[in-house]
Amino acid sequence: MLNKKTVRDVQVGGKRVLVRCDFNVPLSKEDPSKITSDKRIVESLKTINYLINAGARIILCSHLGKTGQNKSLAPVAKRLSELLDKDVKLLKDILSEDTKDFVMAMKDGDVCLLENTRMYEEEEKNDAEFARKLASLAEIFVNDAFGSAHRAHASTEGVTHYLPSVAGFLIEKEIAALDGGINNPQRPLVAIVGGSKVSSKIAVLNNLLDKVDTLLIGGAMMFTFVKAQGGKVGKSLCEDDKLDVAKEILAKAEEKNVKLLLPVDVVAADDMNENANAVICEPDDIPDEFMGLDIGPKTIELFKKEIELAGTVVWNGPVGVFEISKFATGTNAIAKAMADSEAVTIIGGGDSAAAVEKAGLEKEMSHVSTGGGASLELMEGKKLPGIEALEDKDE
Ligand code: ADP
Ligand code: MG
Repeated sequence: MLNKKTVRDVQVGGKRVLVRCDFNVPLSKEDPSKITSDKRIVESLKTINYLINAGARIILCSHLGKTGQNKSLAPVAKRLSELLDKDVKLLKDILSEDTKDFVMAMKDGDVCLLENTRMYEEEEKNDAEFARKLASLAEIFVNDAFGSAHRAHASTEGVTHYLPSVAGFLIEKEIAALDGGINNPQRPLVAIVGGSKVSSKIAVLNNLLDKVDTLLIGGAMMFTFVKAQGGKVGKSLCEDDKLDVAKEILAKAEEKNVKLLLPVDVVAADDMNENANAVICEPDDIPDEFMGLDIGPKTIELFKKEIELAGTVVWNGPVGVFEISKFATGTNAIAKAMADSEAVTIIGGGDSAAAVEKAGLEKEMSHVSTGGGASLELMEGKKLPGIEALEDKDE
């Protein structure tokens, strides 16, 4: 559970409140003024509406894209104006006198948005002077940017040194779901871990082995495990320098009495595209010129049974190359099984969330995290600096 103060714990009426949101939304490549998914904006509305109703003067801020790309938050200001049915002015220069004058003249319930914090290179450097100037616009800081909470940047961590700082409702919800689901779950707790690399998931696997009853492994990372056990993986993605790590993880699972299941069949193909020749074979007997790109039908049934028995299912990492529909069957079946189950179902990781969204099953899950990297770090058992910096709840 979140042991930090939230917007409920502070008096915000009549106050200038700086709210860090995660408005890092995907934009259309053809038309960069078009937002392709406004999920992150919609998820921020609860906190913003609460502050409007409480009579706060709301100064929103966020990053968008990378430092140097200088993407404008203008499309976000427009979408927010529509969603809030209220004019949300975009203030183009965070550090200008005009911006200062504007916020000082705001009235209760007004909302404005500061331009992309990453237009300033000080943001990612967590520059103290930049953070101080940003903080000087407001009297209270609310962090609701879960997707950026794993970064100690000026607008997530720096500003907390200058203002009373509390969490918003999205951060509260994300922590309740992810932390609650892993550390205080309805049992049995079943985790599904996939994705491309063991190396990017070692910490997740290690942390989950301390918590779960069952661990299902899919995705390309399965082949590092298969090869570590002497299997023949063909051209499958495999990290030869991580065979020892895979062995250690298998040993830890045994020692911890965790039921660790690897796929019993896979879809292998001679190329990674829609027209490739595909066969179903055993994971440890893949023809030389083939690569494993999805879990097979027997594995889907095996994993489905575990999901049906679960009290909680935590999923991170697609079990196949879901971007290509020929190899998306396994990932879609896992998503469907989770959607159909009575268990608490939690999705972390950017690609996993995208897969669930693509399958149109987002609403059927208990929680789909808005933060890719941040949810991964929580699953690794790490503390997030943007949350740690907030004020502790009174005992
Ligand atoms: P998340 O963002 O949810 O944490 P990852 O980034 O770890 O997930 O992994 C997602 C990627 O893993 C996807 O791009 C997917 O295509 C890839 N992947 C899954 N299975 C395989 C496979 N068998 N071979 C190659 N890539 C795979
Ligand atoms: Mg990813």
